[in-house]
Amino acid sequence: MSTLVSRSPATDEVVGEVTVTPVADVPAAVARARAAQPAWAALGVAGRVERLRPLAGRLGARLDELARLVTREMGKPLREAQGELRAIVDGLPHELDEIAAALAPETVDDGKVVSTIHHDPFGVCAAITPWNFPVAMPHWMVFPALVAGNAVVFKPSEETPLSGQAYAELLAGLVPDGVLVTVHGDEAQGKALVAADVDLIAFTGSRAAGKQIMAAAASGLKRVILELGGKDPLIVLDSADVDRAAVFAARNSYRNAGQMCVSTERIYVARPIAERFVARLVAETAKMTVGDGLDEATKVGPMVNARQRDHVLRQLADARARGAQIVAGGGHRELFVEPTVVVGVDHAMDLGHEETFGPVACVTVVDDDDEAVRLANDTRYGLGACVFGADDARTAGVARRLTAGMIGVNQGVYGARGTPWVGARESGYAFHSSRDGHRNFTQTRVLSRPR
Ligand code: NAD
Repeated sequence: MSTLVSRSPATDEVVGEVTVTPVADVPAAVARARAAQPAWAALGVAGRVERLRPLAGRLGARLDELARLVTREMGKPLREAQGELRAIVDGLPHELDEIAAALAPETVDDGKVVSTIHHDPFGVCAAITPWNFPVAMPHWMVFPALVAGNAVVFKPSEETPLSGQAYAELLAGLVPDGVLVTVHGDEAQGKALVAADVDLIAFTGSRAAGKQIMAAAASGLKRVILELGGKDPLIVLDSADVDRAAVFAARNSYRNAGQMCVSTERIYVARPIAERFVARLVAETAKMTVGDGLDEATKVGPMVNARQRDHVLRQLADARARGAQIVAGGGHRELFVEPTVVVGVDHAMDLGHEETFGPVACVTVVDDDDEAVRLANDTRYGLGACVFGADDARTAGVARRLTAGMIGVNQGVYGARGTPWVGARESGYAFHSSRDGHRNFTQTRVLSRPR
C-alpha cells in the first residue's frame, strides 16, 4: 500500500503520513457507507442531532493541538488556524438547531388536499474537499450531510490528509461504524468516488475540477453541490473611508496568504482617492510579517506548495510584462511569497481575470461607478464582491448591480448567521448553509391525501 506523506510548506519537515486508499477499493468504501446508512437514517433528526452534538466539546478540547496540526500541514498562521476551528466550535449548537429546523416536515393544506413535504436523506454523499481550510471545508460538507441522515464518504485534500483525518476521527466516535468513511488520495481517488455508487457529491475546490465533476455526475444524474473558486472584486468609491477600505483590502488580500476563495483579488478604486488608497495599502502591506505560521509574529505564511507559488509568480511576471507596476513586495524565497501590491492591472493580464490564490493586491483606477461595476462584473466567476463607500443609496445601488453571490458593503462577504454560502455563475452550483442550503443535502418528497 502506498502512503501519502504530509510535509510542512514552511520547513519541509515531515508532519506525518496516511495510507492511500487504492482506487480499486473506493467502490467498497462506498458500499460500506451504503450498508450503514439506513440505520443512521432511522434514528431520525433528533436522534442524529443528539449523537453529533458532542462534536463541539471534542473539537474544543483539542483545539490548540489541531490548530498546530493545520498550521504545520498547510502553513497558515496559528491564530488563523485557531480561528478556523473556534468558528466551528462556537457555531455548532446553532448550526445543529438550524439544520434540525430545516429538516422538519411542513404541512400545506389548500382546502382540498393536505400535503406534507419531507426532507429525506439521499443515501450516500461523497464529500470532496480542499486544503485551504482543511477542517472548516470538510465540516461544511460532511456535517450537514450527516445530520440530514446520509452516510458520507469523505476525501480530504492530498495536501492536508492529517487535518482531515483528525476531523474524521472526532466524528467517527459519534456515529455508527460505516456512517463516515474516509478515503485518502488525490484526484484519482476523487474521480473514483464521483464514479462510484454515490447519490450526492458535495465538492469544494477549483472551478476546473468542479466542471469535471459535474460532467461525470451527469450520466447518473447524481446531485451536486459545487463550491468553486473566485476572483472577487473590491470597489472603493470616492465616498469611502479610505483608511478603512485600505486596511480591509490588505487583510482580505493577504489572509491565509491569499489562499481563500473569497480573497480580494481585484481592487477598483475611484481616481480622486486612488493615490491615498494605494499609499495606505502599501503601508499596511509593510506590516505583514512573512514567516512560519507557528511564529507568533507571522501574519502571512507560505504558499501551500511549489505549484501554487509558481502560479502566483507567473501571474506577477505576466502582469509586469504587460505594463503593470509592482509597488510593494514582489519577492519570494522558498515557498514564501511577499505580500505584493500591483497597480495598473487590466483584464488582459492573467492577474486580472484568473484566480491568483496568493498574497497579491491588484489595483485598477476607475473613473466612475459604471466603470467600476462593469469591470467588477467582467468575470466568469461570481463568488464574493465588496463595496466600500458612504452609507448611502449610491453605495447600496452599486452593491445591488454586482453579479456575485455574496456581497459585502463596508465589510467582508460573510453574512449574518443563517444565510447561505453561495457562489454565482462559475463559482458554484447549488449551495450550502441556511435553511435552503441544508435542504440541498436532502431529497424533497411530497406526500398528499384528500382533505
Ligand atoms: P482542487 O480542485 O485541486 O482539489 C479539491 C479536491 O478535489 C481535492 O481533494 C482533490 O484531490 C479533488 N479533486 C481534484 N480533481 C478532481 C476531479 N477531477 N474529480 C474529483 N476530485 C478531484 O482544489 P484545491 O487546490 O484543493 O483548492 C483550492 C480551490 O478551492 C480554489 O479554487 C478555491 O477558490 C476553492 N475553494 C472554494 C471555496 C468556496 O466556498 N467556494 C472554499 C474553499 C476553496
